Amino acid sequence: MVNCSQCKQPAVIFVRYSGRHLCAKHFCAFLEQRVAKEVRSMGRLRRGSKVAIAISGGKDSTVMLRLLRRFFHPRSGIELEAVIVDEGIRGYRAGGIAVARRECKRLGVPLTIVSFKELAGCTLDGAARRMPGTVPCTLCGVWRRQALNRAAKGMGASKLALGHNLNDMAGSVLMNVCMADIERLARMAPHEKVQPGLVPRILPLRWIPEEEVKLYSYLKGLSVLEAECPYATLAERGRFVRFLAEMEDARPGTRHSILGFWEGIRACVQASHPPSSLKGCARCGEPTMTRLCQGCALAEKAKSRSAKKNDAIRTAKARKGRMKKGGKGRGKGL
Ligand code: SF4
Repeated sequence: MVNCSQCKQPAVIFVRYSGRHLCAKHFCAFLEQRVAKEVRSMGRLRRGSKVAIAISGGKDSTVMLRLLRRFFHPRSGIELEAVIVDEGIRGYRAGGIAVARRECKRLGVPLTIVSFKELAGCTLDGAARRMPGTVPCTLCGVWRRQALNRAAKGMGASKLALGHNLNDMAGSVLMNVCMADIERLARMAPHEKVQPGLVPRILPLRWIPEEEVKLYSYLKGLSVLEAECPYATLAERGRFVRFLAEMEDARPGTRHSILGFWEGIRACVQASHPPSSLKGCARCGEPTMTRLCQGCALAEKAKSRSAKKNDAIRTAKARKGRMKKGGKGRGKGL
């Protein structure tokens, strides 16, 4: 058995990128320190301000919720409110909502539930059926961003915390690089500048590898949603995250290097690609560069596909009815 590099207790993890063995106590402290540092880097929040916390019931957001509650305890003067998005994914989301309700109740954090049904007029399952050529994650990403921003604004939050871990972050940087999407790279959270109509997003877990979040959640006895979204295998980002897992195995620290590289060039990229000026969407009022925001454009598309499908069903039924009538007539005539 290997002992902790900081004490004589048995180690629970070997942190390859830092070359240290850590026991449960020192590992938890190591993770908490890095999250606290990231939270401090977002600047001092005024007393009375509010942080909206996007949760899903999974390990990342549940760990983030616990830690933010600890950093911003009820006497800190900072209000916390959680928000969960019900995408309408059968057999998956209900479990996450149950975990979110339980955790929020336990920590005394109010919870708001918003749904794609209210926002876009249909569930994600429904939209996926109507738009078979569109990867559900594309719709989900757009509608989720919009739902969270709207909810955070509605509750008067000055920051919106998301539970992305290091694997997600490094995967996003690499994906944007591979797609030469400099605009998106420049707009990646955490946000330091405030754009009208957009609540700046913060990412307290962005330097923590997924495996460490998992271990922390286990050591703290958190009961979280283990199920994976049924559409997860279709997500484009997953390909990059899987590739990076292989790289990390061969070269420990790869994910840190990718995010660190992005941090190093972020200011230059943002200076050369400043945010475009935004106006209100003609339908929902959310900030956008076009007449309709992407969320409303996709919702209209889903609706028109449904209308077309209903028309096709009506036409087919009418044709069947005519054929029946015609058949009978011909039969009688013969
Ligand atoms: Fe949404 Fe795709 Fe994530 Fe499922 S895997 S929750 S569809 S983004």
